[in-house]
Amino acid sequence: MSANILIVEDEPAIRQMLGFTLAGDGYQFTEAGDVEQAQQAMGTLTPDLILLDWMLPGISGVDFARRLKRDPKTSAIPIIMLTARGSENDKVKGLDTGADDFITKPFSTRELLARVRAVMRRAHTGGEQEVIEMGAIKLDSQTHRVLANNRPVELSPTEFRLLQFFITHPERVYSRNQLLDSVWGNHAYIEERTVDVHIRRLRKLLEPYGCEAYIQTVRSVGYRFSALTE
Ligand code: CA
Repeated sequence: MSANILIVEDEPAIRQMLGFTLAGDGYQFTEAGDVEQAQQAMGTLTPDLILLDWMLPGISGVDFARRLKRDPKTSAIPIIMLTARGSENDKVKGLDTGADDFITKPFSTRELLARVRAVMRRAHTGGEQEVIEMGAIKLDSQTHRVLANNRPVELSPTEFRLLQFFITHPERVYSRNQLLDSVWGNHAYIEERTVDVHIRRLRKLLEPYGCEAYIQTVRSVGYRFSALTE
């Protein structure tokens, strides 16, 4: 059975474009123009993913996301927020609502599908996936092996965890502190610039394979992994 995605967007043209794109990739979808309609739809069907517009008439997408993430019945449903706000700081703020990912309008259909696939994979495999492929990089979580352009890359455990985190959370900006939380765990005594050091090492190790540009610096915010080349 194909996954069902709930689209909550008040602009009919965008809603239509989203539905068309998802259907073209084999997804089923349900449309809602506001939070009330979304709640009605969720009364009969639990979506596998929600694409949620930030700015909606009535209850905002941000408030709806918070509400869904607070309710144990709906907290596991992945949410991708759609927003017209461009600033990277707003993106980071948006993620604090509990949304699983964030897409800024206007976005390409390719970007949309890449994010949808990544979020679904994370949500429905518990995050521990065997082999993940992004661009020229292949990462095997079971064997801890990394291939770039089909050639093995030797990574230290920290660099492996960092790359694993990035590759399972692509197209999203993380602050140094968020990376410390996610990759280093208990980091009370680790300084933020440690992240920069490991990013530099990781880039250097990926450089011979032409993959160093996948790890992007987002000025004054942090880092993002992207294997999409426009
Ligand atoms: Ca809107």
